[in-house]
Amino acid sequence: MPYNEQTITSIRRWSPKTFSFRATRPEGFQFKNGQFVTLGLRCDGKLVPRAYSIVSDPDEPDLEFLSIHVPDGPLTSQLAQCSVGDTVWINSKVTGSLTLDYVQPGRNLYLLATGTGIAPFISLIRGDQVFERFETVILVHSVRTAAELTYREEIEARVGDRLRYVPTVTREPHANNQRGADLFRSGELSRMLGLPDADPEFDRVMLCGNPQMNREMTAYLKDNGWTMTNYKGVGNFTVEQAFVATQGVE
Ligand SMILES: Cc1cc2nc3c(=O)[nH]c(=O)nc-3n(C[C@H](O)[C@H](O)[C@H](O)COP(=O)(O)OP(=O)(O)OC[C@H]3O[C@@H](n4cnc5c(N)ncnc54)[C@H](O)[C@@H]3O)c2cc1C
Repeated sequence: MPYNEQTITSIRRWSPKTFSFRATRPEGFQFKNGQFVTLGLRCDGKLVPRAYSIVSDPDEPDLEFLSIHVPDGPLTSQLAQCSVGDTVWINSKVTGSLTLDYVQPGRNLYLLATGTGIAPFISLIRGDQVFERFETVILVHSVRTAAELTYREEIEARVGDRLRYVPTVTREPHANNQRGADLFRSGELSRMLGLPDADPEFDRVMLCGNPQMNREMTAYLKDNGWTMTNYKGVGNFTVEQAFVATQGVE
């Protein structure tokens, strides 16, 4: 049976809309920084599974996840009520297109996230490899309200020459109210960090956000000489949905 019964070991609530939790790790469970897994709860005896990016580094003993709370969502309406000691079912199969295998090596790596789309990027920056492959990693996190700037303290503690962090808040007063995608496209992102303009020859991009951000950025990059990783080969940008929109886009 691919789903393993695991135990929630800690929960951190960031805001009414977002929380993180840790769970025990199935025996022999291997993954790469940036991958996702399917996990779920049994509701009335029936498993309700959903895709979740793994926040942890593979060297950590347990598995950490960042979750949205959709009040009428089949899984998260239940998951948000869980306590330490409750059971979560975790599939043994991992996959995903936000690992370092999905972009060519290069100079600067731009990680553009909206909302919970930051989860796979936290995993990447918790590892060493990303800093061995790239001179500078630029993590851009766009959210509606400052409370959704999850992992902010951890990221800020890691910031230095090799890791730059640009949080943006679009629906509240904040030092930066622009969407990350707009900052990238206008060139302001590189300029404000004192970096050379993002260039498909040297730089790489990973996208994990709402469907609209992914669509807009993918179209922009393709129109400007960037090549997306797909079955034909490894390009200079890669994209993954942070969620699938069935009720409109955030
Ligand atoms: C590859 C992949 C990786 C994912 N990783 C994560 C993750 O790390 N953390 C996470 O919380 N979710 C993630 N999701 C979304 C997740 O699978 C579920 O959709 C989410 O947990 C809500 O489940 P639900 O059953 O409560 O509602 P669903 O019926 O699945 O979703 C209801 C609606 O809520 C909205 N929604 C769903 N997820 C989100 C979200 N994350 N942010 C904003 N709006 C959302 C959409 O409009 C969706 O149509 C991922 C999805 C994919 C495809």
